[in-house]
Amino acid sequence: MVTTVILGMLCVHLLCFCVMFLLISSRLNGKKLGMDVFALGNLLLGLAYTLQLLGGPAHWSLIEVVNHTMTLCAPAAYVLGALRFFGRQVPVWRPLLTLAVVYSALQVLVQWLLGGEARHALLALSCALLFLGMVVALLYAGRTVAKDLRAEMVVFAILISGIGALNAAKFVLILTDGLAALDLNTRFQTTFYIYMSFLGTVMPPGAVWLVLRRLTDELRNMAAHDPLTHLLNRRGLMDGLAAHFRSRTAGPAYLLIVDIDYFKRINDTYGHTVGDQVLGHVAELLNASARQGDLTCRLGGEEFALICLDTDSAGALQLAERMRTAIEHSQVPGINQHPAIRCTVTVGVSAAFTSAQALDQAMQQADAALYRGKTSGRNRVEWASSQAVG
Ligand code: GH3
Ligand code: MG
Ligand code: MG
Repeated sequence: MVTTVILGMLCVHLLCFCVMFLLISSRLNGKKLGMDVFALGNLLLGLAYTLQLLGGPAHWSLIEVVNHTMTLCAPAAYVLGALRFFGRQVPVWRPLLTLAVVYSALQVLVQWLLGGEARHALLALSCALLFLGMVVALLYAGRTVAKDLRAEMVVFAILISGIGALNAAKFVLILTDGLAALDLNTRFQTTFYIYMSFLGTVMPPGAVWLVLRRLTDELRNMAAHDPLTHLLNRRGLMDGLAAHFRSRTAGPAYLLIVDIDYFKRINDTYGHTVGDQVLGHVAELLNASARQGDLTCRLGGEEFALICLDTDSAGALQLAERMRTAIEHSQVPGINQHPAIRCTVTVGVSAAFTSAQALDQAMQQADAALYRGKTSGRNRVEWASSQAVG
């Protein structure tokens, strides 16, 4: 009786969270982060347990074949949902329908050849193996594609290993005690469904937490980057610089302001779309010239900033010169209808500075150097006064 009530509550939980996942996915335009597939998994499991409640004791029937197939397809849907969450565009319906057809056929075969016990044992074993696979995949994801979610992946892996172990135990019990092991009044079945109910309560808010983290990370990322060039914007630059100077071992920084020469002419001659492509091209070369850890930023318009960290004045000047030469000798790719478009840049380099608060002063220095570079003929690197700031 207790197990029946727990099973009933579990169905309600699964179906309610199925609706919640669907509502969340309907708010996520385009990128649904696997929420719609998690909803499908909950629907399958919720319906499977509802059939179990309505079907009564285990016996061979079409409803039971459907029940077992849905019970196995549900964790498979969770796996596909997790892959979608991690950005893999995996198909959903075809693998699930294939699994459903193959597993239904397998059930008929096993029932016919080995009987009902073997069919129930097959389900428990298949679920145990699927959950084991999920645990391995979660731990692997935590070490590779989801390093930022490692703690969450470990918690999910521990929770899922519990249900995997319970399915393995059910498999062994069916082999030893036969179909009596499936009686809802046994202590094992009560434990099994209490744990399932616990998972059904804990996992959906866990999935919502993952989505929330992804969305807030994305928002933070968008707020710190320029949408056209994907470089940092001023705010991102300030945050990056503050993070650098928080470290005790942080060395001095140099600011390079990079301004495209006669950019207005490019816009006027070829149009704004080509102008945007030129901006993207210069941004790419800026990134390619910078060393790992340096901060590249679009200040606005055709003006960029690069902050060289942990270097000396010779290193900063070398970088500025390397970047200027790379831009001068490159041509903007992908613009077929026009003759090769080239551009040059003028670079103003600040003196060394050692705190985030000194950025404004460094900006003034680099700007003044840039102005000198523009008035002295452009396509050159100009160095600010050697006096350190900050
Ligand atoms: P100088 O060598 O003195 O730097 O000359 P310039 O033509 O590069 O400088 P100016 O400041 O006169 O022109 C900058 C132009 O950049 C004017 C503006 O229309 C253009 N611009 C600003 N933002 C964007 C953008 O996002 N896309 C495009 N295509 N053009 C932009
Ligand atoms: Mg310019
Ligand atoms: Mg300018």
